[in-house]
Amino acid sequence: MRTATEHLEAILGQTKVAPRQRVPLAEAVGLVLDEDVTAAVDLPGFDNSAMDGYAVQAASLAGADRAPVELRIVGELAAGADRDVKVGPGEAARIMTGAPMPDGADAVIPVEQTDGAADGVVACRAEVAPGPFVRRRGEDVRAGSAVAWAGNVVGPRTVALIAASGHSECVVHRRPHVVVVPTGDELVRPGEPLGPGQIHDSNSTMLQAAAVAAGATAEIRSAVGDDEDELIRVLDEAMAHADAIVTTGGVSMGAYDVVKSALKDKGIDFVSVAMQPGKPQGFGQLVGSSPARQVPLFALPGNPVSSYVSFELFVRPALRRMMRLEPETRPVHRAVVTQALRSTAGREQFARAVVTRDAAGQLLAEPVAGQGSHFIADLSRANALLVVPASVTEVAAGDPLDVILLDGEVRS
Ligand code: AMP
Ligand code: MG
Repeated sequence: MRTATEHLEAILGQTKVAPRQRVPLAEAVGLVLDEDVTAAVDLPGFDNSAMDGYAVQAASLAGADRAPVELRIVGELAAGADRDVKVGPGEAARIMTGAPMPDGADAVIPVEQTDGAADGVVACRAEVAPGPFVRRRGEDVRAGSAVAWAGNVVGPRTVALIAASGHSECVVHRRPHVVVVPTGDELVRPGEPLGPGQIHDSNSTMLQAAAVAAGATAEIRSAVGDDEDELIRVLDEAMAHADAIVTTGGVSMGAYDVVKSALKDKGIDFVSVAMQPGKPQGFGQLVGSSPARQVPLFALPGNPVSSYVSFELFVRPALRRMMRLEPETRPVHRAVVTQALRSTAGREQFARAVVTRDAAGQLLAEPVAGQGSHFIADLSRANALLVVPASVTEVAAGDPLDVILLDGEVRS
């Protein structure tokens, strides 16, 4: 048996970064740049006013602090205006925020420090230095300089800068596309009536959601019955456009474990991982009928909790590697366990737990009651995996253990 860490290393060792793609900025958010971005223009692109007010020569307002100075209004500049106005000594141009500074002017007096006249003459009540209310061309970014770098994760602030710098697209590692293939004769689509012995296929929706939450795109194929030929046919077809395939079910020791029997000669290794839940795992590069194309395939167990934990520990990091997102695994925190827990010797246990923060800021981990791998309600209630090392068989209340937080932040 290999450890969960060894299994993840084996998977990541075979995981390739997704190809680069030029995409519109809105589609790049959350992805990693694969090319530096260089500004096509200066930012600001021209000297402009930072305030609504009057563009003046600073020297015209000498003494305005003691007695108002009147300036002749020679024009008006709104944002977007072409600057055909000239300001000389004793003159002012009415100017709005973002409008280009007119020739001759070196300062802006904010409207609040004047009588606000629209035309004729404006009375100014303050002196102004050249500069403070003027945004200078290129003071933020110089044309030709880099504004974002390969390896940066694109977020809302990055797209603002790239857009302002003159680009509508950028080059990123694209989102992998995941095809989810559920297996089992007992499965019925969610919402459809159940016959005797049938259950709703909850794994597919869960895995699709988890893949999307990890940054991938995902689709669900109709459940494949416990039939090898049908499985091979569906996978062959999925290979054409999948960057990763995730199957569920059919990987344990039962008589109908069709995934294992159908895929063991098609590039997939079936291994036992010393973990609970999720011991039977399959992974490899699926070889289809056209051998040129190989697609990584994760054969996850069918039990919902096992399937979820396997996705978290193995598929999510691989998807993040494909997108070059770091860290690939979720951060691990230390928490105090609030209730005793037993664990099987020789198996690392990923127990589901509700983690909260106490008044002192300490994380507390309460294992959920149902630790069997079919307890979907308790899985849904949990927000963390509590990691019990393989060597530990008894955890006492008060023991500190590692926890993997599944939703980021923890409520108090
Ligand atoms: P298997 O690994 O195929 O033996 O399935 C193990 C358990 O998980 C069985 O109880 C299955 O009915 C259940 N199971 C398998 N696939 C799914 C699924 N897609 N959604 C919910 N439960 C499933
Ligand atoms: Mg099955």
